[in-house]
Amino acid sequence: QAKQRNAFAVAYEHGMDEQHLRRLQIVQALPSAVREQRLQLHYQPKVNCNDGRILGVEALLRWRDEHLGVVRPDEFIPLAEQTGEINRLTRWVCTAAFDQLQLWHEQGLQLALAINLSALDLQWPDLVKFLREAAQKRGLSPQSITLEVTESAVMVEPEQAIKRLTQLREAGFKIAIDDYGTGYASLAQLKRLPVDELKLDRSFIQDIANSHADLTIVRSTLALAHELQLTTVAEGIEEESAWQILQQLGCDTVQGYYFSRPLAATQFEQWLRDYQG
Ligand code: C2E
Ligand code: CA
Ligand code: CA
Ligand code: CA
Repeated sequence: QAKQRNAFAVAYEHGMDEQHLRRLQIVQALPSAVREQRLQLHYQPKVNCNDGRILGVEALLRWRDEHLGVVRPDEFIPLAEQTGEINRLTRWVCTAAFDQLQLWHEQGLQLALAINLSALDLQWPDLVKFLREAAQKRGLSPQSITLEVTESAVMVEPEQAIKRLTQLREAGFKIAIDDYGTGYASLAQLKRLPVDELKLDRSFIQDIANSHADLTIVRSTLALAHELQLTTVAEGIEEESAWQILQQLGCDTVQGYYFSRPLAATQFEQWLRDYQG
């Protein structure tokens, strides 16, 4: 708190605008929030597009700070990347999510887990060792863990990223390209990437029932992905009509508010019981 008042005083003297001040406060508050485990993970189901069965979950960070209120990952992840805090954050996410997955497996819930990695994580030399050991320690097969990286994250340092993704894949982890279609990866580049799964960005999915352009893009992307032997995921399914279209187009996996918003672990367990019951 002293630190935050301090930041405010500094910002005030320099005539910073509110948004800039908030960013500064986030940068100051994040390290202790990570250290003191005040962040939370929520889980969103990944659903078999054909039969609606639950295949696994994607872990998504949540942070509610007593002064800053709800801070969205879109807001704090880029700042964590700029300050280098992302490394500690990623390690916490993996630890917490792997602990949860171990619990679920012990309870007989054979879920798969997806976590998000940032571009900088791929430049961390010990990433593969860390993930391998973290999985092994909990008796988790790397096959049950997917690492999602955005298309643009891979394009920051393509050679480095390809090398790291190859190592991760050799260790048994699955790799997904997230937000596909929003970046600039060409078909040739995509073919070179050691990838198992392609996640079509939700901007192509949300309005697919009404947009012929989106439908065309998604149809041809799915054809391409299947040509390259990739599993396809459509995110941002908000309506049943979108699910039906994706089903007709032969998409493998769907995800979105139509099934469930991301939920805290116990809420997710309750949701799963209701969904399956
Ligand atoms: P993402 O990986 O593309 O995650 C999907 C985002 O879409 C999530 O937002 C999720 O809540 C939201 N979403 C899911 N279904 C729907 C839907 O049907 N409609 C709409 N409108 N949105 C939907 P969230 O949780 O706010 O996360 C935003 C981004 O922050 C993520 O995008 C990811 O890039 C990043 N992020 C979140 N957690 C982590 C993390 O643990 N590590 C890293 N590196 N990045 C994370
Ligand atoms: Ca993701
Ligand atoms: Ca995404
Ligand atoms: Ca995203």
